[in-house]
Amino acid sequence: MNREEALAIVKPHLKQERYDHTVRVMETAIQLAQTYGVDEEKAEIAAIFHDYAKYRPITEMKRWIESTYLPKDLLHYHHELWHGPVGALLVEREIGLHDKEVLEAIHYHTTGRAHMTPLDKVIFLADYIEPGRKFPGLEEVRKSSWEDLDYGCWMASKNTVSFLMSKSQPIYPETFHAYNALTNKIK
Ligand code: GDP
Ligand code: FE
Ligand code: FE
Ligand code: FE
Repeated sequence: MNREEALAIVKPHLKQERYDHTVRVMETAIQLAQTYGVDEEKAEIAAIFHDYAKYRPITEMKRWIESTYLPKDLLHYHHELWHGPVGALLVEREIGLHDKEVLEAIHYHTTGRAHMTPLDKVIFLADYIEPGRKFPGLEEVRKSSWEDLDYGCWMASKNTVSFLMSKSQPIYPETFHAYNALTNKIK
């Protein structure tokens, strides 16, 4: 599957603004992959499909979590966290993409996880810094992202945890695991 084929497959699953975001994540992910010696083709395909399940009905995502190997604890957290794990499942089942590294990068793109692979980090960070994003503190993260992959991910992870805590939101364990592992790594 080449880039054009993959983009054509994902397009009908997304709204226009989300498709545009996906293209920017793809471009950013390829640049990060080039910078850090990560497989560019895997980065491209993972980025194209990272938000594949973003617009699945909540009830459908809930059913996939209940009826498959996906972690059940997701059901106790915000449904915004479900599209990564469900997306990885559906990209395998519906698209027939079986690359484990790519599927894991899609699975963990929202929360991160402990000991992320270089490909996980590229997708996690590309999703956070793509040029269409506007978060407080983002310019600093963008700058670090081209100097040190772990440090960029750590800043993105730290910002997300701080943001969620400032809103008194529950934080999914994997989100904390990602932050903790990166904090230990950057020292
Ligand atoms: P998008 O799909 O491109 O919009 O981006 P993401 O998949 O990264 O993120 C969706 C949202 O999930 C972001 O607004 C994050 O702040 C939020 N998020 C990330 N981790 C957690 C968490 O542990 N708990 C909650 N409640 N939200 C989280
Ligand atoms: Fe997402
Ligand atoms: Fe993200
Ligand atoms: Fe995204």
